[in-house]
Amino acid sequence: MTPNTTDVLVIGGGPAGTTFGHLAAQRGWQVTLLEKDKHPRFHIGESLLPMNLPIFERLGILDEVKDIGVPKLGADFTIANSNGRHETFYFSKALGESPDHAFEVRRSEFDQLLFEHCKAAGVNASEGTKVTHVERLESGSHRVTAVDTDGEEVIWETRFLVDASGRDTFMSSRNGWKKRNPKHASAAVFAHYRGVKRRAGENQGNISLYWFDHGWIWMIPLRDDIMSIGAVCYPDYIKSRREPLDEFLLNTLHRIISIRGRMRGAEAVTPAQATGNYSYLSDRMFGPGFLMIGDAFAFIDPVFSSGVYLAMNGAERGVDVAEAWLTASEGAYRKACRKYERETHKGLATFSWFIYRFTSPVMRYMFRKPRNTFRVVQGVVSMLAGDVYSNRAVRRRLLLFKTLYSVACMFNWRSVRAAWKVRRPKNQAELQEGALSSE
Ligand SMILES: Cc1cc2nc3c(=O)[nH]c(=O)nc-3n(C[C@H](O)[C@H](O)[C@H](O)COP(=O)(O)OP(=O)(O)OC[C@H]3O[C@@H](n4cnc5c(N)ncnc54)[C@H](O)[C@@H]3O)c2cc1C
Repeated sequence: MTPNTTDVLVIGGGPAGTTFGHLAAQRGWQVTLLEKDKHPRFHIGESLLPMNLPIFERLGILDEVKDIGVPKLGADFTIANSNGRHETFYFSKALGESPDHAFEVRRSEFDQLLFEHCKAAGVNASEGTKVTHVERLESGSHRVTAVDTDGEEVIWETRFLVDASGRDTFMSSRNGWKKRNPKHASAAVFAHYRGVKRRAGENQGNISLYWFDHGWIWMIPLRDDIMSIGAVCYPDYIKSRREPLDEFLLNTLHRIISIRGRMRGAEAVTPAQATGNYSYLSDRMFGPGFLMIGDAFAFIDPVFSSGVYLAMNGAERGVDVAEAWLTASEGAYRKACRKYERETHKGLATFSWFIYRFTSPVMRYMFRKPRNTFRVVQGVVSMLAGDVYSNRAVRRRLLLFKTLYSVACMFNWRSVRAAWKVRRPKNQAELQEGALSSE
């Protein structure tokens, strides 16, 4: 079969792939994007960050995201069964220039919007086309084999390859580069409900986060009176499940008095779904003529709603890497890759530091009773807004917050140690998908 040829081929039409494709096509490259599903399709990851908004502007989609989204002014945090009171962190309090709001979206609508704009930008994008095989050629190009919905094989030869296959981790799984994160073994169970009580007034679009004994819970308000609710739980708790998944989720939610109150009279509109073993990192991020972006490279716990932003930000920066391969010397390409790697790790590390400590008693206390000493709380709000890359004032405040946290831990070492014992991953097998099936 004579292969089709292209400058850039992208595997996957989620936020990372479509952003990359859109911007690479805008720079004049011939781009092909292959997506195995058909939009609109369900996807989890519905709460966006303020720092997404400048990217939407650059893609020319901000008004359309506004039309499908619920405005989100901040995030509120509650310790389950304490006194039910919550603390709200408003994005308007952030340091620097980050926008004062974000949006909550149904990913089926959001991803379809991104995909359509990507096509309109000139990308040759196909749905229902699953990439099955990738081979590196001596010329430095890649040969990509895909199968469409009729079972027909299509072959492409591409000068640059981008893996944006999300949690399918096409390249890192096939090449044995994918490493589970031993520091963060947990699992999520989630569903959509109708009729859940929202926060009052202008706060009605805010995401709510609850700490409870077995992990944490999110509530994300979507349009048409739908609330996305999920519980991210420790292995021991998930392992204790005896009932079907829907019941397990509801029983978990009903453990928390203030959630029970908000859910009175609510009904589930989707079956509960689960995902396990879900923090990982790939040993490699790039190589000769290829780059991995978004969840295809790494996935971190979604407590700070960072996934879509990290994916789109990485895609934007990744276009420079592709351009270096297509136009510049090998040395310039290597330099572009190293810069990309540094920035990517910076974003992941900033969120990860907070994620690993999120359920510790000291962190709970600091989030529930924030004191804005030296504007550290504003630094934390900037992190919540996604301003994690280049703002020095933010990075200084985060450093200070970490110091205050360490000092507080020294004074409370007994409770810190007890909490660590509960959440440490004793046995990775505890989180195998079997423990999470809907039966
Ligand atoms: C429980 C949970 C809650 C989350 N909550 C949030 C949140 O509130 N906010 C947030 O920002 N993020 C959240 N995330 C993370 C978010 O979902 C991801 O980070 C984000 O979707 C990453 O985008 P992506 O484009 O890299 O991958 P994806 O969105 O997964 O897109 C990858 C695409 O590649 C396609 N694909 C895969 N394999 C192939 C193949 N072989 N051939 C062709 N196509 C292929 C897939 O069909 C998919 O469309 C959450 C994640 C989880 C698990």
